[in-house]
Amino acid sequence: MSEKKFATTAVRAGINSDQQHGAVIPAIHLSSTYALKGFNEKRQFDYSRTGNPTRATFAQAIADLEQGALGIVTSTGMSAVHLICQLLSPTDTIVIPHDCYGGSFRLFTHLAKRELFNLVVVDQNDQAALTQALAKKPKLVLIESPSNPLLRLVDIASVTEQAHNVGALVAVDNTFMSPVLQQPLLLGADIVFHSTTKYINGHSDVVGGVLVTKEQALGEELAWWANCIGITGSAFDSFLALRGLKTLPIRMKQHQENANAVAAFLQQHSAVEQVYFPGLADHPQHALAKKQQHDFGAMMSFELKGGVEAVKVLFDKLEFFTLAQSLGGVESLISHPSTMTHAGMEIKAQLAAGITQSLVRISVGIEDIDDMLADLSQALDASQL
Ligand SMILES: *Cc1c(COP(=O)(O)O)cnc(C)c1O
Repeated sequence: MSEKKFATTAVRAGINSDQQHGAVIPAIHLSSTYALKGFNEKRQFDYSRTGNPTRATFAQAIADLEQGALGIVTSTGMSAVHLICQLLSPTDTIVIPHDCYGGSFRLFTHLAKRELFNLVVVDQNDQAALTQALAKKPKLVLIESPSNPLLRLVDIASVTEQAHNVGALVAVDNTFMSPVLQQPLLLGADIVFHSTTKYINGHSDVVGGVLVTKEQALGEELAWWANCIGITGSAFDSFLALRGLKTLPIRMKQHQENANAVAAFLQQHSAVEQVYFPGLADHPQHALAKKQQHDFGAMMSFELKGGVEAVKVLFDKLEFFTLAQSLGGVESLISHPSTMTHAGMEIKAQLAAGITQSLVRISVGIEDIDDMLADLSQALDASQL
């Protein structure tokens, strides 16, 4: 059959797979263990840490969407990041972006302190610094694009090509985009991973992760480690995430329509100093976003006039934007990176990364846009009184 489009792959994942009852939606298999057919006669699954039918269906669906060879479902996004670290020995070097997800930054810096590998932190848009980092012949280069919370982009194809030229593998954190908006494996990367907690599940009721490799052999090596360490995702979470996945393409459409409207609204509002959103024509990497992404996503941040006092009033007055960490759910969330998602970073490091006290991040949900803009309007006005 011809190649399926996104929405078809997402919706049809696991459908018609029940041979016994013809259940349209795949069952959730909670059993921890599976009976052998007889002495030394194994079935496909034997123990749920190693393999589980519900998890396998979800893994296959994401691998299909990312167009990779093998998918591995992990217990959290962070355990997917940790799984990648299993590829490194104490003499190996890994290059990470200076503005990667705070949890990833914490993991890499603390493991490096214990000398499990050498760590090089670099601004991948600084070509001289990147070239210098790659001269150390790293085993692995991590990319995250767009970045959190300032929505900076990295040219994935270009960095990947440079990394491959020195023999490094490339892993891309695709959490902010989802496979609907960006497919790093098609840009040359070897590994793509997600916190499924965000857009893929999309309903803020699962914490999970997934990792997809371009090549089968690398996938099998990582799957071996995932079972060995015991970080594979649960059947129940896999079931929920698979259910969320079915509406991912249509959710992303609405997320984006709303995000475009919110960004345009913020940009013209007198309480707003600056908006960071790749979909705006004045974003420094607007052209790159158009080139490597299928669309601009629904994450944005902005500088509010009036400092942290104004930020407090804004949060207090908003009704349809919940003050909470995380992102990618159907509901709109608002956060203060300095005291929330990036609190683990020292203030000096925050400022170096461009995170000020008046920076506010929004995960734009799929509520009615008229209500969202009216809410933002009254709260922004109040913040400046
Ligand atoms: C949330 C997040 C993670 C970590 O995922 P968890 O599911 O919270 O463990 C990693 N990378 C990015 C970009 C994230 O947003």
